[in-house]
Amino acid sequence: MVHRFEGSFTQQEPIPAAAVDAATAVLNHGRLHRYNLAADEVGEASLLERDFAAFTGARYVLAMTSGGHALATALRAHDVKPGDAVLSNAFTLAPVPGAIAGVGARVAFVETTESLTIDFAHLEEMAEMSGARVLMLSHMRGHQPDMDRVMRIARDRGIAVIEDCAHTMGGSWRGVVSGRHGASACYSTQTYKHINSGEGGLLATDDPKVAARATLLSGSYMLYERHGAGPGADVFEAMRDFTPNLSGRMDNLRAAILRPQLAALPGRVSRWADLHDAMEDGLRDVPHLSLIDRNPDLVRVGSSFQFRLPGLVAHEIEAFVDRCAGRGVELKWFGAARAHGFTSTYRHWAYAETPDLPQTDRVMAGLLDMRLPLMFSKEDCEIIARIIRAELSGMRG
Ligand SMILES: *Cc1c(COP(=O)(O)O)cnc(C)c1O
Repeated sequence: MVHRFEGSFTQQEPIPAAAVDAATAVLNHGRLHRYNLAADEVGEASLLERDFAAFTGARYVLAMTSGGHALATALRAHDVKPGDAVLSNAFTLAPVPGAIAGVGARVAFVETTESLTIDFAHLEEMAEMSGARVLMLSHMRGHQPDMDRVMRIARDRGIAVIEDCAHTMGGSWRGVVSGRHGASACYSTQTYKHINSGEGGLLATDDPKVAARATLLSGSYMLYERHGAGPGADVFEAMRDFTPNLSGRMDNLRAAILRPQLAALPGRVSRWADLHDAMEDGLRDVPHLSLIDRNPDLVRVGSSFQFRLPGLVAHEIEAFVDRCAGRGVELKWFGAARAHGFTSTYRHWAYAETPDLPQTDRVMAGLLDMRLPLMFSKEDCEIIARIIRAELSGMRG
């Protein structure tokens, strides 16, 4: 019997040697700014945009400072104005309502199902009520709804979908790469996501006007022709003098670190699947514990693991989380009264005026979450599962 798990839930893998070499080359020549190029040089930021366009199949890709900045830029590029309503699923991370608030828009949250995805009936209702023209659909923790159904609802109402793919880079729905259903998609390359440059984001779209506006917004100083996967100069002509520069470019150093990691992403996704499977196997038939439904159409990136404790009340869950923490298993709980570290729910974002979402409240009240860094082995997952199982087995019921 293992009494304590000694691994770290926050330690990611080191940056691979090929990425360190590529970074060293950029540091040695010193041209870190994406527009600081030698004659005929295509910089790392542009090369990353090309690589990511090839990886996703998107026509246009823009590399940016962060995933959150990419989300805000996508909203602006889709012409969301102050006061507009923007639909979003309530189970998401703070940068999503933050991006919506940042452009002065109002978030119209939609209920969450027990599968941790958007509730279609409530989406239809809220689309009607809010009059929103944009849905920012956040694939929180890698869970994705039936994308065909989302797109049908959106198309019927003339709603543009912006996908938040911070947790789905490398995943897919019915064989379609995550981010390729909606009009635009935003990805994050922050340390806790699937490829790591500390901070960073990518915006992908097939819409030339959205791509051009986003590029100008990112602070392209009329050097947009130096981009790796952007629209032609003619698309910029009508908007170049009317689009503000909001400075959010990625630099060549971070792009250099990311390109070898992007090439390695499919391998990482399969390692994450193994870890996620091991967790799931270890937590089957545990008293009080419900696993999240697996959707056979989804290739989910298992970089985190969620489960529900629907029958337990708040103080029981708190006590359980504390006991697990005492044994080295770091669980995050979405039912806490206040935002805690990275973990918060729609109720904690008091700047977004949101009506009660009773179904989401019920799901969040019993929702537990943990990271699965690739530093873990399958044996680590088995130890973690045994500790959770032991701590739940002793409870009433
Ligand atoms: C991390 C994250 C973001 C924002 O990405 P940053 O690069 O940290 O700004 C957006 N949505 C979700 C769901 C995230 O987890």
